Amino acid sequence: MANKFGIPHDIEILIRKRDKNCVYCHKKMIYPFHQSNPIDFATIEHLNHRQDWNSVESYVQEGLPVDEIVTICCKSCNSSRGSKPLKDWFESQYCQGKNINYNTVAKVVKNYIDKYEQLL
Ligand SMILES: [Zn+2]
Repeated sequence: MANKFGIPHDIEILIRKRDKNCVYCHKKMIYPFHQSNPIDFATIEHLNHRQDWNSVESYVQEGLPVDEIVTICCKSCNSSRGSKPLKDWFESQYCQGKNINYNTVAKVVKNYIDKYEQLL
């Protein structure tokens, strides 16, 4: 069974347990997802900056590890990043101001960069 974001239930539990804080700025996350608009709300973040909401289903079909790609971050980090590659986004004023960079982000983000984004 999948939630409305197409994320299998067991994966959702896993990422919610792991990502108790924004994976970027470490702000404590408030659930449920996206209910209204406060910037502290938890949003689903696709580390590979694919925008389509059905992408999780395609990761599963492609055999990609969803829990290495899908994370949780706050709404303000999510909107700031948009679809930028992580390394480009880290250069932005937003990240510099909040000290968000490779060394400060959550382990799941570092692992993602090490495994996938360095190849870009
Ligand atoms: Zn954040």
